[in-house]
Amino acid sequence: MATPGKIIIISAPSGSGKSTIIRELTDTHHVPLTFSVSATNRPPRTGETDGVHYHFLSDEAFRSAIAADEFVEYEEVYPGRFYGTLKSEVERRSAAGENVLLDIDVKGGCRVKEMYADGALSIFIMPPGIDELRRRLEGRATDPQDAIEARLSKAAYEMEFAPRYDAVVVNDDLATASAEVARLITDFIAK
Ligand code: 5GP
Repeated sequence: MATPGKIIIISAPSGSGKSTIIRELTDTHHVPLTFSVSATNRPPRTGETDGVHYHFLSDEAFRSAIAADEFVEYEEVYPGRFYGTLKSEVERRSAAGENVLLDIDVKGGCRVKEMYADGALSIFIMPPGIDELRRRLEGRATDPQDAIEARLSKAAYEMEFAPRYDAVVVNDDLATASAEVARLITDFIAK
């Protein structure tokens, strides 16, 4: 049987560049990782595919999965919007010797780290500061001002969880931050 793969948890406030860093881990730095596909009851966005970006479930199917104990963890990340890590995703991939990356929110991240302890590495991507985060979110021009304010106050709350992570990487320069995250994961996998 293959040696079980490692679990890598990455959390970050929105606007911190997390998605780009995660993409660079495999595309630029060739870190051997597989991605756990979470389940959610939010509807797919344009360009998202069921089973690839998320397992998109109805409210009822999500509730049934909770009742059937199918989740490692799940959280109501936004009001009425649930996201959960499926046991089937993590256990199957890890048992096959794959290193599994979980891109999950701060509460889920801390919970999974507690469960897997030394078998998991948790990394928090820190935006360079609230002012810079505001500039990035406003620069995206996708959200109305009240949504930006809500994201900023959520970001401030999420940043309080950073000390509970194994490592905190500040993203003030994307290339430097992604190289640092790649190094942390590569060292952890090699242990
Ligand atoms: P989005 O709707 O933008 O794809 O994701 C919103 C947030 O949900 C992100 O911060 C993401 O990290 C978090 N998230 C995605 N999947 C999971 C999961 O399985 N569990 C938890 N706790 N959070 C998740």
